[in-house]
Amino acid sequence: MTVEEYIQAGKIASEVREIVRGKNWIGKSVYDICEEVENEIKKRGAGCAFPVNASINEVAAHYTAEPNDPITIKDTDLIKIDLGAQINGYIADTAVTVCYDAQFEGMVQAAEEALSNAMSMVKTGVKASDIGRTIETTIKRRGFKPIANLSGHSLDQYTIHAGKSIPNIWSIGGFSLSGNSAYACEPFVTTEQGGGFVRNGKIKNIFALNSRKKTKNEEADRLLDFIWDNFNMLPFALRWLVKDWEEKRARELLDVLVSKKAVQAYPILIEVNEQRVAQAEHTFIPNENGVTVTTQAQ
Ligand code: MN
Ligand code: MN
Repeated sequence: MTVEEYIQAGKIASEVREIVRGKNWIGKSVYDICEEVENEIKKRGAGCAFPVNASINEVAAHYTAEPNDPITIKDTDLIKIDLGAQINGYIADTAVTVCYDAQFEGMVQAAEEALSNAMSMVKTGVKASDIGRTIETTIKRRGFKPIANLSGHSLDQYTIHAGKSIPNIWSIGGFSLSGNSAYACEPFVTTEQGGGFVRNGKIKNIFALNSRKKTKNEEADRLLDFIWDNFNMLPFALRWLVKDWEEKRARELLDVLVSKKAVQAYPILIEVNEQRVAQAEHTFIPNENGVTVTTQAQ
């Protein structure tokens, strides 16, 4: 593990997240938002660890803009902007919820407070299940519900979900945090009327390589090599292909790669009762005395 690169990626990701937080996005298209945020990451010298997610209202996660996506932000929307920067594959994963309607401000604050309380208790050896309990208690105290089937995760080089989960609710078992690993913590909050779970939606616009095994379709194999060369095993979007591939053809070839299981397509995640969802997220590395939150605002 290269702490230095995690910290470098974290500094960039947190700078960009604070720009996102401070901006008025009303009337902007999600296409412009995703492109602009990705450009802010790149111009600071990092790569994008995954396509910027701009998930609106009851969509909790995993929506990124399609090429020329026409959806625009309304003044009543609650938007989770989840962004990732990477240096040599060492990832900073962070998110902020922006909203311009005071009636949803409480949800945003609940997510932020849950994250901040979680970060206050982290050090080497702390149990992930205890972090989950803190997150759940904080959110419920404010009269909201945590999303039980979304969780934080361990990170590894070129790997966003490296196998260990940090729950957003109290749960039995689990693991203890190691000082030799980076993790992301990401509380998701919904209303009391929410089910507190997400389900898969129909839309799938984030993809990642599954296997580099050839498909016997020459053009699809060329796209497979292109994906590996440009994104490694990290997630990507169709938007990231259309500079080099004709859009219609890229879609067809992606379908081929998905059907051959060379590429995985991730569905958007929607709150089961279609209630709004807020999120906050940091990446951190525990130590014996506490924690380095790599995505802490400077
Ligand atoms: Mn994230
Ligand atoms: Mn994450």
